[in-house]
Amino acid sequence: MIFVISGPSGSGKTTLLERLLKEAGLRRLLRKSISFTTRPKRSGERQGRDYVFLARDDFRRALKAKKILEWTNFLGYYYATPRDFVEGQIKKGGNIVLCLDLAGARKIKRLYPRNTATIFIVPPSLETLRRRIAQRCHRTKKEEVSRRLELARAELRASREYDFTVVNKNLHQAVKELRGIMLNALSQHRCTQI
Ligand code: 5GP
Repeated sequence: MIFVISGPSGSGKTTLLERLLKEAGLRRLLRKSISFTTRPKRSGERQGRDYVFLARDDFRRALKAKKILEWTNFLGYYYATPRDFVEGQIKKGGNIVLCLDLAGARKIKRLYPRNTATIFIVPPSLETLRRRIAQRCHRTKKEEVSRRLELARAELRASREYDFTVVNKNLHQAVKELRGIMLNALSQHRCTQI
């Protein structure tokens, strides 16, 4: 199975996924894809753990060398899914989780329609979202906060394209819902494979 998790910047999708992957049961079942990005590293982020941070030239080289399965330009920075990782996991029969924007979710669903489940994380309110984005970007320009908010509104409108939605009002509850969706999809998928 391939799980694609999307949600506006500040929806809490990264924290949710981190919590979930801390659980031994799910960590055993799922591998997270680490994307390439040309965006600068935020404080607390680590090379190779959160993203593979690349210079633009290296990104172009990776694209030319067909090392990229899908890519997007998000607010001026490039983000991309490594082809080797995804294809390697599929070959091994492993399950993958990817955190992607709407364009990425559409692409993966198109490439692997039968084994992709898309999940959209909804923030509790636009006000919460604005606060989270502003906190995260406290050293970033005001302009980026408003661009991320604008994009978040558009992403929220597209949330009905997803197979599942989870409202991240309470972290504990949202982790529980996400875990339920994934385990259910995994067991159904296993049944159809037998
Ligand atoms: P952020 O800068 O907040 O880490 O990520 C910005 C957006 O890019 C988020 O919606 C995130 O899910 C998305 N994103 C991260 N990596 C990839 C990727 O490899 N492909 C696509 N399509 N989107 C990505």
